[in-house]
Amino acid sequence: MWSTARDIADGDTVIVWLTRDFLQPLTVTAGKDFNSKFGNYRHSDFIGLPFGSKVGSRTGKGFIHVLRPTPELWTLALPHRTQILYVADIALVVAYLDIRRGSRVVEAGWFPSTVSLALVGRIAGIHSWATGTGSGSFSHSVARTIGPSGRLWSYEFHEARAKKASEEFARHGMSDFVTLTHQNVCKDGFNLTDEADSVFLDLPAPWDAVPHAKQALRKDRTTRICCFSPCMEQVLRTVSALNDAGFSDITMYETLVHQHDVSQVPVLPPISEVAEKLKKAEGIREVKRQRQIAAGQRTHEPHGEKRKRGEGDDDGVEEGAPGSAELESGKRLKTGDEAPSTLAETVSVVPTTAPAAVSKISVSKVVPEVRGHTSYLTFATLLPPLPASALEDAKQEPDQTS
Ligand code: SAM
Repeated sequence: MWSTARDIADGDTVIVWLTRDFLQPLTVTAGKDFNSKFGNYRHSDFIGLPFGSKVGSRTGKGFIHVLRPTPELWTLALPHRTQILYVADIALVVAYLDIRRGSRVVEAGWFPSTVSLALVGRIAGIHSWATGTGSGSFSHSVARTIGPSGRLWSYEFHEARAKKASEEFARHGMSDFVTLTHQNVCKDGFNLTDEADSVFLDLPAPWDAVPHAKQALRKDRTTRICCFSPCMEQVLRTVSALNDAGFSDITMYETLVHQHDVSQVPVLPPISEVAEKLKKAEGIREVKRQRQIAAGQRTHEPHGEKRKRGEGDDDGVEEGAPGSAELESGKRLKTGDEAPSTLAETVSVVPTTAPAAVSKISVSKVVPEVRGHTSYLTFATLLPPLPASALEDAKQEPDQTS
């Protein structure tokens, strides 16, 4: 796809990393300038540098990084013409549609290991297709996965988008194995019969395309389809269409992003150590109490008098005494104190045998709010039809149920 050379050459695509949230694709063209709020650069400054280099601005203020494109970076940097798929969804689709590099031998156990090489060759060429192309985010990831020995047929009915995506695919060296057709697939189908291993539909009315998808899928092996729809009503219509077309194993997924808040907290002593200290403190208090009683008896002063004046109203533990255990908040844990519930929660994520030298440890808390809903992913399987002989055998077998 993109250049695999070490150094950037004239005409290469690079991803300019300005900030974590601001990435921009750039075709390096000698003679052109690149200006941003992070300074001014000449494209010729980038030529000959290794991909990934940090480049200082000509004006002396600011710097950028020029990165080798990957599908993941392309997804973050691409010019948006539509809503796009992001890596969390793409990864799930690629995995569950069983899309893989065309040149790799399939290891799944559905065929015997003694299978002839001819058959291995046949199944090794992974053919997938996707629709609609949109901004090409999904297409780039699939293109990398299938490689030049695979094949991706992509469809887009919006003319300008189809043209733009076609140009990008050519520039990124994908044209040999990615075919983009400007066509309304719900109306005109895919012009393919028994050719694709998997189908991915990202369009508003996938149910209209499901019968065409069935025609395009191979019938000599198990194949898969995935429909990407943002709302439940669309999912339900798609599920009905998949059922009607004879797909099975229909399952819907949603990928959501769980945020984790990671923070550093002081390591608490193991609970056995705290218990030991509390026991000691209890012992010290008891000794003090006994001493007070003895002293009171000696002076004949009634014990109650002393208590009224507040003397000896000692709970037995001085600040910093060995019987106290320091808490995260700086409060001291004393005999009879219950561990606060927040402490208990924290303890549950701190290893009980933290090394003595470690004074702080990282803990993570899941933020209850879940973000990241993009769409629902409905997957289904199309099994190859049973051979005629198997159907005949089934007919001749006596009915066990009667
Ligand atoms: N998956 C793409 C990506 O990751 O960049 C985004 C796809 S975008 C949400 C949906 C695209 O499907 C739009 O560009 C739209 O023009 C196209 N489309 C919608 N209905 C179509 C149809 N019946 N035939 C072909 N393309 C269609």
